[in-house]
Amino acid sequence: MTCTIIDCYTDEPAGLGVPPYLGTYPRYIAGYLNEDVNYLTIDDLRLWKKHNSVVKETKLSQKTDITTYNLTVNYRNVGKILNETDTLIVVLGVHVPGKYLSAVPGTLNEIIPMIRNFNCKKILTGPAVFGTQLFGGRFYEKADLSVFDKVSYDMFNFLYKDVKEYSLKGTSILKQIPDHRMIEIETGHGCDIGKCSFCTEPLKNKVEFREKEDVLNEIIEFYKLGARFFRLGKQTCFYTLPYAGKLLKDIHSHCPEIKILHIDNVNPVKVVLDKKNDFEITKAIVKYCTSGNIAAFGVESFDLEVVKANTLNTPPTIAYEAVKILNKYGGERGSDGMPKFLPGINIIFGLRNESKQTHLENMKWLSRIYEEGLMLRRINIRQVAIFEGTSLFNEGKDKFLRKNKKLYWKWRNDIRQKIDWPMLQRVVPGRLRGRLWGKLVKFFK
Ligand code: SF4
Repeated sequence: MTCTIIDCYTDEPAGLGVPPYLGTYPRYIAGYLNEDVNYLTIDDLRLWKKHNSVVKETKLSQKTDITTYNLTVNYRNVGKILNETDTLIVVLGVHVPGKYLSAVPGTLNEIIPMIRNFNCKKILTGPAVFGTQLFGGRFYEKADLSVFDKVSYDMFNFLYKDVKEYSLKGTSILKQIPDHRMIEIETGHGCDIGKCSFCTEPLKNKVEFREKEDVLNEIIEFYKLGARFFRLGKQTCFYTLPYAGKLLKDIHSHCPEIKILHIDNVNPVKVVLDKKNDFEITKAIVKYCTSGNIAAFGVESFDLEVVKANTLNTPPTIAYEAVKILNKYGGERGSDGMPKFLPGINIIFGLRNESKQTHLENMKWLSRIYEEGLMLRRINIRQVAIFEGTSLFNEGKDKFLRKNKKLYWKWRNDIRQKIDWPMLQRVVPGRLRGRLWGKLVKFFK
């Protein structure tokens, strides 16, 4: 039986699988199938459809076409591979839409016509089973899924006792990817305290952690295959992991030539609670990870009214306290000139009870952070995407999005001009800033 995985990429509150990141879904599925699996990206399919699988040369003056940039080694044979495929597994789903610098995730309405006429079993899996949306400020994408023989999240949502084996076998899909990827590593799923109104994570997973040795062995396997860029990003809070510090120490000693070792999501409350252990986890992250590392704080709003109405996980005072702690321990610069470990702040527009005061509160706290000489590695701002089953869908829906939409450009611009850009100058050394600045200017225009 010939199986083919089409990776349309995934982006969730806890886990990124949009290039340059390689997500967990296609890897675990490949390991589970335990046979020769073809791995294709949506970019392979677009190139096949648009240009008959021929890569056009990009002149220096031209922009790179990021819709067909992330090709696998199989890109020239897409038609043949799909014709010979017995089972086609489509991995897809964006729950936290952002702007991507080097890839464009696939949508349901894009992939369905592409695969409709193939005479094989078709399965849809990944976050899209709960809905998908590439743009903030909208409801999830409506699509006719009847082309799929099966639509299932559970089918490939493996128990961690199985992931132990599948994650190791699944590392082999790296051989079908010619360029460097940041390997997104899963340590756990589910959220222990959050009930955030917009979030799909509690709908998908109960709280569970992988064994430390399993995570380590997967990283070592990738390392043996030449991978040097890793992010421990697939969990809702790295600090909640029972063995966070020990894992980092072990990775450091087993994989000495890692070029990037970063973490992702962090609940600010847990950073403050780490005080009880003399900030053991923060210190381990600073010691064993590489510089430029970000603790993504899902603050979402500094307005207490919004925090309460959406049962967000962090009041502004705690977020501010956590920002100070990470600056104290992680602000030191590494050999590349970047601070070792800083907070990043996520802000969401369109949550329940959002008002003009919300923007004033956001500016108040962000200005305080800036004026006190503290550093933020980045500020992500997005409009909420609304998914069925979340508390926001059940109560409020897009009421506040519609009410305040006309203000978002100004709110966003205020944060960018008054906080983000001056902060960038503070955080990034001059020699690196030119490159980043150019990207940001293009990005936020
Ligand atoms: S803290 Fe909130 S946004 Fe983060 S995973 Fe938990 S419920 Fe979701």
